[in-house]
Amino acid sequence: SDVLLVGTDLRKSFGKTPALDGAGMSVAAGEVVAVLGPSGSGKSTLLHCLAGIVAPESGTVVYAGRELSAMGDKERSALRRGEFGFVFQFGQLVPELTCLENVALPLRLGGTPRKAAEAAAREWLGRVRVDEVADKRPGEVSGGQGQRVAVARALVTRPKVIFADEPTGALDSLSGEEVMRLLVGTARETGAAVVLVTHEARVAAYSDREVVVRDGRTREPEHAW
Ligand code: ADP
Ligand code: ADP
Repeated sequence: SDVLLVGTDLRKSFGKTPALDGAGMSVAAGEVVAVLGPSGSGKSTLLHCLAGIVAPESGTVVYAGRELSAMGDKERSALRRGEFGFVFQFGQLVPELTCLENVALPLRLGGTPRKAAEAAAREWLGRVRVDEVADKRPGEVSGGQGQRVAVARALVTRPKVIFADEPTGALDSLSGEEVMRLLVGTARETGAAVVLVTHEARVAAYSDREVVVRDGRTREPEHAW
């Protein structure tokens, strides 16, 4: 299958401690890859480098044949907004907006008129089975409902890659399973690839393939391609 995103020999330090020490991984179009490893091993930093949020000190990240470091800041943020979606552990919903407005926001930022954006947002809230929270603010919904809203918001722009960093980390195991089913299920429906950072084997079980990070280095089992 087609390689969509590939990071090679990535290095990044915070002070003296290397967070990434020659890490690399690739993601094929539509593939769900789990990045697994203990706390502090460098998983989030790897995700941030692949998503163009953090610049590695050395190494390359190539998305759809284009090297992220060769792009300007504007081009890179347009790429993030247009082709990538993000789901984090918590805190990513805007507290002042309703859940519907939160899901519509990425479309509004991309220039979609309000009515069309809100219609699409309502449809996505239905797909992740939280129609009932449309007019509530994030502070008024449960953790599981909030994460489903976050999944809808990540997918509403039909991204090519979803970056999910411990998306179930703040949930009990039942809501976590539900969020994982919806995240992976909707990603598969739309053909989005998923880079899933987790330290839980149970969460990684939703992936097609696992990459293990230890001390800033990746260990990737045999490729499928
Ligand atoms: P993981 O996601 O596996 O828990 P991280 O990538 O968050 O690991 O962190 C890897 C290492 O880099 C840790 O030692 C962490 O404390 C450090 N680190 C990550 N981000 C920062 C930062 N912004 N400033 C300083 N140290 C950081
Ligand atoms: P995770 O374990 O999922 O990486 P953390 O709570 O470690 O989550 O990190 C949350 C954020 O704080 C990340 O953006 C990370 O880069 C940053 N961070 C992690 N460790 C440090 C640190 N030692 N100093 C400053 N920022 C850090």
